[in-house]
Amino acid sequence: MDARDEVKRFLEAGGLRCTPQRYAVMAFLMGHAGHPTASEIFEAVNRADPRCSRATTYNNLRDLVRAGLVREVAAEGRAARFDAKNQRHHHFICDHCGAVEDLAWCKVPRPAARSLGGRVLRDCELIFRGLCARCAPRKDSRAQRF
Ligand SMILES: [Zn+2]
Ligand SMILES: [Zn+2]
Repeated sequence: MDARDEVKRFLEAGGLRCTPQRYAVMAFLMGHAGHPTASEIFEAVNRADPRCSRATTYNNLRDLVRAGLVREVAAEGRAARFDAKNQRHHHFICDHCGAVEDLAWCKVPRPAARSLGGRVLRDCELIFRGLCARCAPRKDSRAQRF
């Protein structure tokens, strides 16, 4: 299956029509290893096709999030970041530089039925916080001072 079919099937699985602009947003996110902001997504999509307006891009992004195909990673005080939900993973956000990184998926235990009180769960994702590898103090820095 080539990349083009994969994007189309993913959209169809989410019950969305494959319009050229929606396709462009989804294809960009599926091919992007990082977590771009809405504005970065718009810039990339618009560069490839100048007919893609900011409003259309943002509307498509919102539709993709609602359909469960794109995850919005909320980082307080900073622009939300997005990634395609074709691969399950958790996230790590650096307290210092705000980097959003993927962490390998691990299963999260389901809360006890009685604690749910009638809520219906759809999904669960974790955000781990701390310092990224670039911001964390180096393990050997103390040794070097002596
Ligand atoms: Zn950092
Ligand atoms: Zn991610």
